[in-house]
Amino acid sequence: MDQSRLSKTELHVHTVGCYHPEDLLYMVRDSYSDVDWNRFGFLDRYESVFGVRPDPIAMFERALATGSLDEIREVAVYRWHPGGRFEEFDTKSYFPVAAAGYHLDTDQHQPILAPIVEHHRAEGLTYVEYRNAFAARGQEFKDWHGRYARFLRDASDEEFTARYIIRLDGRHPVSSYMDVRELIDEKPDLSDTIVGVDFSGREIPPKNLAAFYHRIAEDNRLHPGSVVEPVVHIGESFFDLSLESAVRWCHESALYGARRLAHCIALGIDPLVAVGRREGAHQGESAGERMDQIRYDLTHARGLSRCGVGIRERALEEELDRLAGEDPEHLITRPYDEDRLYQVSRRQDYVLDDLCRLGTVIETCPTSNLCIGGVPNVKAHPFPKLYASGVNLAICSDDPGIFGVTLAQEVANVSRWFGLSMEEMARRLGDPWEFRLASQQ
Ligand SMILES: [Zn+2]
Repeated sequence: MDQSRLSKTELHVHTVGCYHPEDLLYMVRDSYSDVDWNRFGFLDRYESVFGVRPDPIAMFERALATGSLDEIREVAVYRWHPGGRFEEFDTKSYFPVAAAGYHLDTDQHQPILAPIVEHHRAEGLTYVEYRNAFAARGQEFKDWHGRYARFLRDASDEEFTARYIIRLDGRHPVSSYMDVRELIDEKPDLSDTIVGVDFSGREIPPKNLAAFYHRIAEDNRLHPGSVVEPVVHIGESFFDLSLESAVRWCHESALYGARRLAHCIALGIDPLVAVGRREGAHQGESAGERMDQIRYDLTHARGLSRCGVGIRERALEEELDRLAGEDPEHLITRPYDEDRLYQVSRRQDYVLDDLCRLGTVIETCPTSNLCIGGVPNVKAHPFPKLYASGVNLAICSDDPGIFGVTLAQEVANVSRWFGLSMEEMARRLGDPWEFRLASQQ
């Protein structure tokens, strides 16, 4: 395969995370002095986290006068550094949100989306799936996402295809999804642009999404001309789970029918590294979660045993009986020893094997995992294990503007970090375009 294909299809970006400093300048070049820069508390947050209060109006004025983007870059870009905090990234992500807010008030989507689409086009990308979130329901939700999708549809041509993935409300997954389905029914010309729905933010137990997965599969069967596929952020941030449960959540998401899984750090990180990330990491989880894990182990006993995981069914059944009398929210603590850590890595193998069987795709976002996914350093990144497994794997950039990287740089980083030639990577990974959503349309 032509190795440049690895850097032409982007399957995982959030619109708000796509703004490089020049894109921010482009977005507000005529409006920066009218923007409410403290919208959503951006300036207050920045001051409390970084100890300085930026003056965006003066920054944009100087950038326009001098042509230098350095000051904007300093505030907008979050570079990975040991000891970096999610809070720092999160604070910086409000910079583009504040900038876009000015245009949102007037329902203008062109000035918000044009800078990032043009940037991606100039980078040489030919296919991008954009994820976007909007905290509303019903008509407002449909109108808003409808405008975004329409812009992306109109921005597509023979050289560049933009697709749209709508983030659902994890607390009301079915009704939130129904809003998307209604939007497509009401505006059928958007059906080839709206290709997916996503869950991001705090991870949701897959079983809570069972009704959603069932509904979307049924709708896709009934409406093969307007397929919307589910994707989910999973196995990214799981400190409140045991490692076994974090691995299981990835597996269950795939079994329920998620087409692609974002991150899956839980499936590739060395268990010893994972538990060493924090004092007591992954030792505690709720009794309800432990019970779910036992039921999973009993269901998958044969396959797990084949992969070298010791499943003592009798003991698990007894534990399940004991836990049945407990408050499901009660915290259970189970420390790790060498054997348990070894068995977690076998569980990772079991699930990766099954993802190969299912054809599920993992979207790995290397810089993002280092910056905000709790991967302590490059050596600890899950990529080598995911890569060695044979699972469908796509390199993506998540929030390229905020992290100050492009997809091509992400691919080059992986090549350098893990000593893989581009030819070798192209052969193993294939063309990520093959993993695009709703490709049967
Ligand atoms: Zn993401």
